[in-house]
Amino acid sequence: MSINATIAGVPRIGPDRELKKALETYWKDSSTGRALASTATRLVNDYTDGVLAAGLDSVAFSGRSFYDATLDTTALLGLLPERVADIDDHENDGLPRYIDRYFAAARGTKDLPASAMTKWFDTNYHYIVPELSKDSRVELDDSAFLEDIRDQVTRAGKAVRPVLVGPLTFLSLSRTTDGSDALDHLEDVFEAYTRLLARIADRGVEWVQIDEPVLVTEVAQDALDRTRAGYEKLAQASDLKILVQTYFGDGDQAIKLLSGSGVAAFGVDLVYGGAELPSWTGAELLLAGVVDGRNVWRTDLDAALKTLQTLAERGPVGVSTSCSLLHVPYSLEPETHLNEEVKTWLAFGAEKIQEVAALSRALRGETTDADEKLLEDTRQAIESRKNSDLTHNAEVRKRQDAVQPSDRERDPIAERREAQTAELNLPPLPTTTIGSFPQTTEIRQARAKFRKGEIDAAAYEQAMRDEVADVIRRQEELGLDVLVHGEPERNDMVQYFSEQLDGYLSTEHAWVQSYGSRCVRPPIIFGDVSRPKPMTVEWYKVAADLTDKPVKGMLTGPVTMLAWSFVRDDQPLGVTADQVALALRDEIDDLIAAGARVIQVDEPAIRELLPLRKEDQPAYLEWAVGSFRLATSGAEKKVQIHTHMCYSEFNELIDTVSNLNADVTSIEAARNGMQVLAALKDEGYELGVGPGVWDIHSPRVPKQQEVDELLSAALESVDPSLLWVNPDCGLKTRGWEETTASLEVLVSAAHTARENL
Ligand code: GLN
Ligand code: ZN
Repeated sequence: MSINATIAGVPRIGPDRELKKALETYWKDSSTGRALASTATRLVNDYTDGVLAAGLDSVAFSGRSFYDATLDTTALLGLLPERVADIDDHENDGLPRYIDRYFAAARGTKDLPASAMTKWFDTNYHYIVPELSKDSRVELDDSAFLEDIRDQVTRAGKAVRPVLVGPLTFLSLSRTTDGSDALDHLEDVFEAYTRLLARIADRGVEWVQIDEPVLVTEVAQDALDRTRAGYEKLAQASDLKILVQTYFGDGDQAIKLLSGSGVAAFGVDLVYGGAELPSWTGAELLLAGVVDGRNVWRTDLDAALKTLQTLAERGPVGVSTSCSLLHVPYSLEPETHLNEEVKTWLAFGAEKIQEVAALSRALRGETTDADEKLLEDTRQAIESRKNSDLTHNAEVRKRQDAVQPSDRERDPIAERREAQTAELNLPPLPTTTIGSFPQTTEIRQARAKFRKGEIDAAAYEQAMRDEVADVIRRQEELGLDVLVHGEPERNDMVQYFSEQLDGYLSTEHAWVQSYGSRCVRPPIIFGDVSRPKPMTVEWYKVAADLTDKPVKGMLTGPVTMLAWSFVRDDQPLGVTADQVALALRDEIDDLIAAGARVIQVDEPAIRELLPLRKEDQPAYLEWAVGSFRLATSGAEKKVQIHTHMCYSEFNELIDTVSNLNADVTSIEAARNGMQVLAALKDEGYELGVGPGVWDIHSPRVPKQQEVDELLSAALESVDPSLLWVNPDCGLKTRGWEETTASLEVLVSAAHTARENL
């Protein structure tokens, strides 16, 4: 069987976040394993059924995933970290027997730290980083995966196409704990996959998909050669047809490398790659990813069809998405409150599946009446989007044209430092937090009640004011130096602003998995962005009035406002970023007028949008840094600008961080052993910096000695006059108990270190 129409990967969290709910219940109460297992089973079954019912003839199947596909592969290969090995096998309720070790690696336990987590390529999805060493031994633990495959095959036969993370990608994303090279295990992983493929073939499967997205980036020649050799052996030993799938960039390197290796098909991303259309003479099939799997706009079906027809002249073609539909919401259907015009421009997961099906039929000359209608509706939608008043704002354009290079410059750092020292009068090693405090059930309930109209705006506001007062009191009690208002009024740091900016649209049900059970609802930027009125000033004032200590104004930076939204694809990202920057610049003016002397502009996502290929990076960094500077450079010297970054490795990006020219930068560090410190030292970093000394992504309270040690390590690399003491990230996902306990530890570490200075 060939493949005519498919998608490159599937979402897992459930259309209504069913898996999230089942996971969180299980983590609280491990007797609910059976319910978790059956929820996961139902979700994969429903998805497979839906895809096949829509007319696709092959469906990607990564098993029931309980947290992350990379972690699934780690468990499958028997490579979960050594430290979780003593946790007992889990039996008898339909969950994989490694599940508790798997969750311990993902989330940590009371006694064990979690594994590092970082962004999946340039997306806002996070994977759990495999931890290997010279001594790691690959040992297949595949019974759960094979059972899942057997169940799916019973349901959908040969249409089931199991998906694996490819050996090269898996190891390239791994870290080693002993400085050895993770790729030393490449041959072992290939060897294990050879055995695994034989077992999968026994389950009655015909195709298997192996994802090698790392092949869209620069890979060393030696690794490429060994990968080619690995696939040759794998293909030779296996009765399965192997599809090698790349995404987020050009598939050419993969095709060139693996042509004639015995790989049966290539799946390529023709949205974010494929400027030149590929030739694939060394394989029997190309799966053309012409439907954008990570953005929400309707596909220009006429253009896509033309591409497909050109490709079909070169050989057999199947239609697919550019990447897994993990990155977009399930369906547009539940969105009943969207602007009607904008809604016609959009396609979420279910609609994209229909696009794939229609394109595949059109390519084969089997267009139905419904397809004709879809093609016609699409033409109209594309016309409407191109010409709509909703996308253009003349005033924004005028202001943007008038921006000068000097608008991106502040006074020299020495002058700023002097003015800020006089203004703020802080102790050495000042303590602060990243912005949010626990979003308690009460806060979320108040917001839900307000949304449903059960309480009025005044009551909701009062509840949030009470929360701010509580957070200020607690911070004073803890003895923190620079306070925050706690962000109780913010559902999400991007959505909160997007709801107040013109040009942005928010959705009601359009959830996307961010990591584990955490989901986000990215807003959609459809037009020119502007700020009708101040967004955060009132909340700043509520907090500042309650304390004599400085309170940080808290904003989300332009790059993050783009990275965690679905962006327009009809203008360069840098143009949109500057529009957001100008709105933030006005907000900063207003905060300063209200008395703010410390303002944090969060850019947790600045690393995430970094292009995967080195040659594309300078242009990105120029607009990314430029937009941050445009947002913040209106601030006078006595105002201290902070920024915050997380989830990523910043070691190679320290000069970018320094170009942002923020007076103080807090960076995630605890979870990766403060690796960033060496880079700061090498770079001779001269601005204020707070490498996080408490990993807030795990529920575990750090021991005093741990934080003392992290801080001592920081003091060895950073001049004490530049060092800040803070957690890794915001605290909204934490509870009060661990927050208070951990902050006590943090403040005490700062006090001890101060005395020893
Ligand atoms: N200020 C935000 C918070 O504390 C920053 C969150 C983030 O870095 N992701 O929640
Ligand atoms: Zn953060």
